[in-house]
Amino acid sequence: MSDPLTLAEIKDYGVDVFCWCNRCSHNGVVEIELLIAHCGPLLSFPSVHGLLRCQACGSKDIAARPNWRGLGVVARHDPANGSERHLSLRQAAHRPVRRQ
Ligand SMILES: [Zn+2]
Repeated sequence: MSDPLTLAEIKDYGVDVFCWCNRCSHNGVVEIELLIAHCGPLLSFPSVHGLLRCQACGSKDIAARPNWRGLGVVARHDPANGSERHLSLRQAAHRPVRRQ
């Protein structure tokens, strides 16, 4: 396979990051711009895993993947349901970032 994606490359695709807690199955979408603000644009995507913490159970065992659209099985990024607030960076202030 090719080299891991960087956060900047994921942003270029226009997608956010879907996260899943391996302990309690809590899940949510973290905005890519929030990750870049805290981790820098050149962080490789696999490194994101160690930076996330579940807000439901506190576990750091978080799976993350780009929230590709059109896969069907991926939760849609719907601002109305607030799902992007369910998970946040360990040190991040709650600061929803709105595109557009
Ligand atoms: Zn959890």
